[in-house]
This record gives sequence, structure tokens and C-alpha cells, in this order.
Amino acid sequence: MKKEEDIFEGGKKLPLLEDFYTIQGEGHYTGFAAYFIRVGGCDIGCKWCDTKFSWNPKIHKLTDINEIITKAKNYPAKTIVVTGGEPTTYNLDYLTSNVRKNGVRTHIETSGVYKLTGEWDWICLSPKQHNKPLKEFYPIANEIKVIIEKEEDLQWAILQAKLVNNNCLLYLQPEWSMFNKIIPFVVDFVKENPKWRISLQAHKFMKIP
Ligand code: SF4
Repeated sequence: MKKEEDIFEGGKKLPLLEDFYTIQGEGHYTGFAAYFIRVGGCDIGCKWCDTKFSWNPKIHKLTDINEIITKAKNYPAKTIVVTGGEPTTYNLDYLTSNVRKNGVRTHIETSGVYKLTGEWDWICLSPKQHNKPLKEFYPIANEIKVIIEKEEDLQWAILQAKLVNNNCLLYLQPEWSMFNKIIPFVVDFVKENPKWRISLQAHKFMKIP
């Protein structure tokens, strides 16, 4: 997909798949309330993707970012999580700078395949083997979240850990549809390699978005 930064009025509009106030279910901020902004559009093509409906940006309503900001600042928890789709497809400068002006923290979840725009308080890099991140993400990621679908993916995780900065938190996340099969390997790995933690998609256990 072509990076769309110049198309949607310099980032003042985004194809919005959905936005909702919920509890973060993955990574370091698991259990914290946040306002999720899921943008439409992704060409990474993960076969396990649970949001395939997000892939085509054209079917999602082009939404004025000021509408999103108004909602974000009125929720009790002052954090937005921008996810997708692949949020780096778009210019996020306008969204993040204006959200921050309203005292709201900015978190992003990205595969890191496109240049990062915007101002971020927390960057979750979820690298994909079949469509690797830009190198510039490794020094700035606050956490990496490697999806583990099969035992061999743990080797990919080890390679990714060598690339990140020293402060970056390391998470392994069992792929949901393979959970029962893969979780024993993930548990054993983390017991042997305790610098890693497990991210469990807690929102799915809670049956919330
Ligand atoms: S990067 Fe995310 S939205 Fe895109 S295909 Fe992979 S899992 Fe789905």
C-alpha cells in the first residue's frame, strides 16, 4: 500500500474502522483503561490476522480527526491507543499533537513497516517475519510484542530482542487460534529466558473489544 499521508488532508482525516473505550488487553499496559482508535488499511497480510476487515481502507469512514480528539479527551482515562490496520500508513502528526495538547497520552501499536509520524508516549512494535519493520523502530520501541504461532517463532523473537534498545520490554504473545497448542512452549521459554514476559490478549478472555 502506498503511504497515504498526503491524501487525507495532511492527516486531518483518517479512515476510521472503529473507536471505543475499553481495557487494554496486551503488553505492558494490560488492564489499563484507554480509548482505542483503530484505523482502516493494512497490507501486511498476516495469515492469523483477526481484523481482516481492517485491511481495505476504502470501506472505512473518512473521519475528521477533531471528532476523534473530542471523544478522546472526554473519557476518564487519558490515554489513546492507535492501532489498526497499520497506523503508520498515515500521517499521525495532527492527531497526536492535538491529543497531547489536551493532556492525553499517545500509544501506538505498529508493525513498523512505514516511517513513523506523530509524537508518542509509548511505542509497541509488533514485528512480522514476512514484512519486517524499518530499522528506525528498534531504538525507539518501548516494547516489542512478538506473535508466537509455532515453536520456531521463538527463534525469530530471540533475533528481534538483539535489535531493540536496552530499555525495551520484551513480550511473547501466543497467537489466539493456536493458544492451547503453543502456550506450553511459550511458558517454558519464558521460564528459561526471564527477560521475556507473556502477553495474553486479556481482552479476549474478558470478552470485551
Ligand atoms: S499487521 Fe495487524 S492488522 Fe495487519 S495483517 Fe497483521 S495482524 Fe492484521
